[in-house]
Amino acid sequence: METSFLDWPGKVCSTIFLPYCNLRCPYCYNHQLVLRPDELETLALDDILEQLIHQQDRIDAICITGGEPTMHRELPELLEKIRGAGFKTKLDTNGTQPEILDYLLNKKLLDCVAMDVKAPLDDMSYERCAGVHLPASIIMESIRVLARSPVSTILRCTVCPSLLEQDDIYRLAKEIGGLWSEEASDHKALPPFLTLQQFSPKDPMDPALKEIKPLEDEFLERMQEKVNDILHGSGR
Ligand code: SF4
Repeated sequence: METSFLDWPGKVCSTIFLPYCNLRCPYCYNHQLVLRPDELETLALDDILEQLIHQQDRIDAICITGGEPTMHRELPELLEKIRGAGFKTKLDTNGTQPEILDYLLNKKLLDCVAMDVKAPLDDMSYERCAGVHLPASIIMESIRVLARSPVSTILRCTVCPSLLEQDDIYRLAKEIGGLWSEEASDHKALPPFLTLQQFSPKDPMDPALKEIKPLEDEFLERMQEKVNDILHGSGR
C-alpha cells in the first residue's frame, strides 16, 4: 500500500496493489507482482481499511492497481467495501476486460479510471508492446466503454523507444480521438489526455530492455505537446 499525489491529479490517493496480470509487457517494472506475487508481503483487506479509516481526513481516494485488478472476481466486493468505508475509488487497468469495466461503471463502483493504452490499435503493434497476443479490438471496446461513462478518465502510454516510434504515438492519439468522438456521452465531448510515461530500463520484465536508453525528457515533452494538440487542439 502506498500514498501518492500523482495517481489522480488533485486528489490524495492510497494505492492497493493486487497480484497477477494477463499481459507480459516487456518494459513492466512490476513483474514480481505479476509473476511471483507469493514472494511479496500480503496484507488483509480489513486491516488495510482499518489503517486507512484512521487517515480519512488526509486521503481522498483509494486506487486499486496491479498487476491487473480486473482479473480478480472479488473486485466488485472490494470496491463496495472501500466505498462503504467512505472513500472515492480509482481503478488502474490495462483495458483487456471491457465487460468487467462496463459492469463496474454501471454499478457506479468507480469514480476514476486510468487505463494504459500500450500501442497503436492494431493487433501486431499491440502484441509487440503487451508481450502476448491480444486483439486490439478489445482495447478499442474498453475505450468506447470509458467514452460512454461519466467518470473521470486518464489514458496513459509508456514510451519505450525499441517498441514504439514517434509516429506510432501520434497514430494512437488520432485513433483514440476518433473512437472518442464516435462514442462519447454528453459529459465527455472532449477526449481525455493521453499521458506519455517515460520508460525505465532499471528492472524491466524483459532483461534485454536494460540496454535501451529512454528518450530525453525534452523530446518526450515535445511529443506530449503534439499528442495534446492532436486530441484537443488544432491537430484534431
Ligand atoms: S505493465 Fe503490463 S504486464 Fe505489467 S502490470 Fe501493467 S499490464 Fe501487466
